[in-house]
Amino acid sequence: MRYSQSFFFPQRARMTDVSLFSTEQVFGMLAALPDPAFIFTRSGRYAALFGGADNRYYHDGSSLVGKTIADVLSDERAEWFVEQIAIALEKPGLHVVEYPLSGHDVRGLSGEGPPEVLWFEGRVQALAYQVQGEDAVLWVASNITASKRLEKQLRSFSETDSLTGLPNRRKLMQMMNDHFELHMRYATPSAVLIFDIDRFKSINDQYGHLSGDQALQTTAEVCRAELRNTDLPARMGGDEFVVLMPHTSRELALPIAERLRKRIAEELRQLGTLGPGATISGGLSDMRASDHGFEDVLKRADVALYNAKRQGRNRIACHLVATAQSS
Ligand code: GH3
Ligand code: MG
Repeated sequence: MRYSQSFFFPQRARMTDVSLFSTEQVFGMLAALPDPAFIFTRSGRYAALFGGADNRYYHDGSSLVGKTIADVLSDERAEWFVEQIAIALEKPGLHVVEYPLSGHDVRGLSGEGPPEVLWFEGRVQALAYQVQGEDAVLWVASNITASKRLEKQLRSFSETDSLTGLPNRRKLMQMMNDHFELHMRYATPSAVLIFDIDRFKSINDQYGHLSGDQALQTTAEVCRAELRNTDLPARMGGDEFVVLMPHTSRELALPIAERLRKRIAEELRQLGTLGPGATISGGLSDMRASDHGFEDVLKRADVALYNAKRQGRNRIACHLVATAQSS
């Protein structure tokens, strides 16, 4: 049998004339497709599979043909795939989806393939004819794991302060926004501490910029070591840091901030490169129902920090609450 172009693409006249090729050649081309191309029926049956033969990128899925998605995937995943097939069948054009999948997720896969979790881009197109008595789609599953990895790396770079390794201002704003929304929805308390190294300009001037950098790195290390996993320290910029403490009232946050203040001063003294060392001052506030946005909380914490500086530095001040004693 020879295939005419109108058999495959009745709506498109400018395709290559397939009748120029023998059946064998057409199947040869399908087998050579770089990415696996599945024919799925509406109910989720693997009706056919072409291409995707390089097992550095793909598992051999030929054993799946004749089975259904529900036979080989978990209920939740199978439901998602069948849903996407239904969407593609309703759409006039391509339906594009991204999803992670590993060889272990698919029951009954035979042969070799990549061991790690792979990311796929599925490009799904409804077919103009039925297969095995059902509507059907062509689903090309391209392995996009490498670009996903790069994307993740770039996102991480764009959200991390390169000197200290802490989340940067951009990431902090995102975290503050997320937690503010949680606070507004569930009234969960969240405390926010802003702190800043005291007289840092003169530290740079006296001991050099590199020693200043080292002080910033040590400060970040103390934050990582001293705070709970759920607390989120970030470098706001310059010598200013912010710690977001979810599920923590301002009262509970005060002793944590005080401990941080003492530990940072101790570590900066022990560095030995900053003469007598350095101290920090902090301002503490919390999210409130009357706030319009997370910026309100930051502003209050900033006012408290300003007060801590004015009152002599090396202390934590709470917004509208008595200043804690320095030691
Ligand atoms: P205050 O006690 O009022 O905070 O006085 P300060 O001297 O610390 O004043 P301020 O916080 O305004 O100064 C911040 C200084 O931090 C100014 C800038 O030169 C320095 N700085 C900002 N970023 C860096 C950095 O990445 N490395 C180093 N070494 N210094 C930085
Ligand atoms: Mg400072």
